[in-house]
This record gives sequence, C-alpha cells and structure tokens, in this order.
Amino acid sequence: MRFYNTLSKRIEQFESIEKKSVKMYTCGPTVYHYAHIGNLRTYIMEDILEKTLEYIGYKVIRVMNITDVGHLSSDADTGEDKMVKGAKRENKAVLDIARYYTDKFKEDCDRLNIKWPSVVVNATSMIDDYIKFIEHLIDTNYAYLSGGNVYFDTSKLENYYKLTNHSEDSLLEAVRDDVSTDDNKKNKTDFVLWFTKSKFDDQELKWDSPWGLGYPGWHIECSVIALKYLGEYLDIHCGGVDNIFPHHTNEIAQTESYVGHKWCNYWFHPEHLNTQTGKMSKSSGEFLTLSLLIEKGYSPLVYRLFCLQSHYQKQLVFAYDILDATKNTYDKLIKRINSIKDDDSVLDKEIIDVYQTRFREALENNLNTSNALTVLYDLLKSDVNNNTKIYLIKDFDQVLGLNLITNKVIDNELEKYILKQIDLRYEAKKNKNYALADKIRNDLLDQGIVLKDTREGTTFDLVK
Ligand code: AMP
Ligand code: ZN
Repeated sequence: MRFYNTLSKRIEQFESIEKKSVKMYTCGPTVYHYAHIGNLRTYIMEDILEKTLEYIGYKVIRVMNITDVGHLSSDADTGEDKMVKGAKRENKAVLDIARYYTDKFKEDCDRLNIKWPSVVVNATSMIDDYIKFIEHLIDTNYAYLSGGNVYFDTSKLENYYKLTNHSEDSLLEAVRDDVSTDDNKKNKTDFVLWFTKSKFDDQELKWDSPWGLGYPGWHIECSVIALKYLGEYLDIHCGGVDNIFPHHTNEIAQTESYVGHKWCNYWFHPEHLNTQTGKMSKSSGEFLTLSLLIEKGYSPLVYRLFCLQSHYQKQLVFAYDILDATKNTYDKLIKRINSIKDDDSVLDKEIIDVYQTRFREALENNLNTSNALTVLYDLLKSDVNNNTKIYLIKDFDQVLGLNLITNKVIDNELEKYILKQIDLRYEAKKNKNYALADKIRNDLLDQGIVLKDTREGTTFDLVK
C-alpha cells in the first residue's frame, strides 16, 4: 500500500508499526455548526483509507476527537471560541449545540456510509489529562506561563516546520486572518496550551487548573486523546489540508516534546472541496450541507460517488451540473447491477482473483479511487458469469461503500413486483397467516425495500 505522506512529502510504501494492525487518528469536527460537504469529503476519503487498509488485511483502530471547546475563530489563537459564537448565534448553551451538531454529524456519516470510529472522544471530557500533559511540558521547559496563559515554546525545537513545505512568513500570513498579535508570546509561532486570559471573557466553559480558571487551547485535545487511546507511537494521522499548519504542526511539536521521540509515521491530508467562487467554510456561514443536497433530490451516495471519481490530492470544485451527471451515472450503475440476476452459475475463482488484484492495485496506488471504479465498470461490461459478478461487486463495495447491491432503482417492473408483494402480504394477514406476511416483509427487506404500514395503507421505500 502506497500513499502520499505529508511528512516525507512523497508517496511512500506504508509499513505499520505492529504487523497487520494500524493505529489511526482523525481530527474530528468542531461542532458549532453543521458539517459542510467539504468537511464530509475529507471524512469520506479517510473512510476509504481505513476500508482499503482493512480490505488488504489490516485491523484498523481509529480514534477521533469532537472539538467542543478551545477552537478559536482564528487558527492563530486569537479571536473568540467558535463554540461560544455558535451558542450565541442560536441562543443556546455550548454543550447543547455540541450535542446537537455531533448527532447531526453522525447522521451525515451514517448516510454516507462513513464508518464511525471505534473511539470518539469529546475534547471537554479530558481536562485532567490536559492539565497533567501541560504540567509535564512546563517541568521540562517546553512551556511557559505568560500573561495568565500557558504557551508552548516553539524555539525549543530543532525543526518546528517539519510537516510543512512553506516558509515561516507565508505560513504566518495564512493564519493571521485577524492580524492581531499576542504580546505574551516569546516567539511568533508559540501557541496556547491553556487560556486563563483572552480578549473574549465570556467563555462559557471553564475549569480549575494550577494556572487559574480557564480552558484548553485547541491543539492539545488531539495530542492527549491520541496518546491515551493509541499510545506513544501512531501509524497514521489524518485531517484536511488546512490542518497541516498550524494544527498538526503544533500537535507534533507538543507530542514529540512530551514523549521524547518521533510520534507519527504517516500524515494523510485530503485536499479541499471548493465552490466555484472559492473556499467553502463553516465560519463564513456560506456552505452546502448534505441535508440540502438530499432536499434537492440527491442521494447521499451520489455525493460519495462524486468524491470517489476524483483523486483525494486534487482540489475538487463543487458544481450542480457535475453532481447531476454523477446522479445519472449512479442510477445507471445501480440499474445495471439490479439487472444481474442470481442464477446457478458457479463462482469463477480465477476471475475473482484477477479482478480483486486489479481493484486492490488501484487502491494501493495512492488510493486511486477513480481507477478502482473503472475496474468495477470493466467487470460490468465483461462476460463474467452472474454469480461471480455479484460476488465481486459485493466485495468491492466493502471499500466503495455505494450500496451497489442493496440499492434499487425503482423502474416500472420493480414497482409492479413490490405492489404485488404488498398485495400478497395483505391477503396473508387477512387470512391470519402472519408467518407468511412476515416472510414477505423480510424478503423485501433483504432486497433493500422497506414496507411502512400507515393509516392510508402500506407504502414502500428503499434503504438509502
Ligand atoms: P472543522 O470542523 O472545521 O474542524 O473541520 C473538520 C474537517 O474538515 C477537518 O479535517 C478539516 O481539515 C476539513 N475541512 C475543512 N474545510 C474543508 C473543505 N473546504 N474541504 C475539505 N475538507 C475540509
Ligand atoms: Zn486535531
């Protein structure tokens, strides 16, 4: 398996620390608003990475944080806490909006077939651990107290910039979106580990600490959560490209100073999704959500396919005409797969091997999802026997996550068939043959069709 490692700045062969097992950390959402479809692109590509690793035989342990405190509206540690801003916008308590938007994010992940990580931790649940971590950094002279806050001293590091490609000044310009500087810092790049003083004093959540009542800086949660749940050595750390600096740069600085050795071997950063007019961002309030796409009639999996058609290292521009074309492609794909009937054909092991190898090679080659899709199209066009085709489609869908087998396109023939089954079930119930009625319902469910009994009669829906 090879993919682009931001740390070495090249495509590298992946070697896990422990044989056949991968420790993976993904930066989670800041839950002050809905996730936008740009955020979700990042999570889709991280899901593809995880599922590819599983497909080729690794066990993956994935941990994710939920940022519910400390992420200020400027990544450079100035500005107001995004959570406080969100709470004010909605006239609610911080923890209420955190809960609400975390649930909504989980719902989006479910709809997009993004596997929920094995461990998900709220930033606010780890305060004692942050305090211990910061105390250790102060004891070892990596951190200092100034103007009431605790800062990390970046001048103590030999190479603070090892994750980034740019010069110090261009990076600082990039984060300085409100051009205010913090005079408490010894070096421009120092960052806050613990706040007790900020220009914005209305922080809702504060905790006691050896440095006074306050709250943690943004970067600390990921370092401490990763250390607690995955140990001192990490295989892969993920996040969108905007996380490279300062967030991941600062995570590396503080974690490696704390553990005293290299921390994470591979850094995976999918590129952004942009709108035709520029960046899609939560803070500007101008963004597209998955729910909006659903309202407009697009299945979430059409959006997943839209993302898989392009490479994760390329910026992707969102446009409705491209999404329309993808919807067409998806419907055709499902229709075509629907038409492959189970028959008594025998699984062809050799053919399975040939197609699996091609599919695996596409993904192992820096996650080339569009080539992986080509393998699927080639299979559909081929004269491979039906059961072998169905077997391979199911197999590929473990990674693609497009519900290729269970999804149905309702054409006239399918509609007639479902209505007939509803009729038969109605008759069965009338004759008190409940076993048969249940069997009809369950058989339909196996095919991805859900029946709903309403006062007006029975209706049906497709699963996803
Ligand atoms: P946030 O909720 O802002 O902390 O971001 C959640 C994830 O989405 C992070 O991994 C970000 O790097 C990523 N992200 C932010 N904006 C975009 C975008 N326009 N396209 C793709 N990923 C993004
Ligand atoms: Zn993080």
